[in-house]
Amino acid sequence: MNPFSTVLVAVDFSDSSDNAFKMALAMAKSFSARLIILHVINEPVDLRGFYVPHLSFERLENEIEEGAQNMMKSFCHNQLADFDNYESMIVLGLPYEEIITQAEKVAADLVVIGTHGRTGLDHVLFGSTAEKVVRKSKIPVLTVRLEE
Ligand code: AMP
Repeated sequence: MNPFSTVLVAVDFSDSSDNAFKMALAMAKSFSARLIILHVINEPVDLRGFYVPHLSFERLENEIEEGAQNMMKSFCHNQLADFDNYESMIVLGLPYEEIITQAEKVAADLVVIGTHGRTGLDHVLFGSTAEKVVRKSKIPVLTVRLEE
């Protein structure tokens, strides 16, 4: 039995997640697994309709989504020349919650994340998303550290 038939990797387009992505791709190749590449648009729920009217917020959200789709498209184009068993996903929400929810939805056997993200902030052990995913995910999580 193949222990890893679906691998989900969470990317925020940082150096750390690029590094985690390389590991996820290597694992997907060696286990002949499907690779799910997930990006979460961090939704500032509290700001909706507060600082800006609802309509212009919607327009802003559409532009953000379009920008994220473009980033994902060029990421896949650059990183996946010799691999086609993958799907990319973009969702809105809280990164750690969505990583866990989407991993369960696609029945991932493994979640791969970087230890740090775009902020590069050094938290106690990991970045905050990594820490929360490790703490709360029922699916095994592989964290990949980027050596500086
Ligand atoms: P952080 O905890 O924010 O420093 O990020 C740690 C790791 O979590 C990153 O290297 C990514 O693998 C993942 N991650 C963080 N933010 C996002 C996001 N918005 N979408 C997808 N993955 C993310």
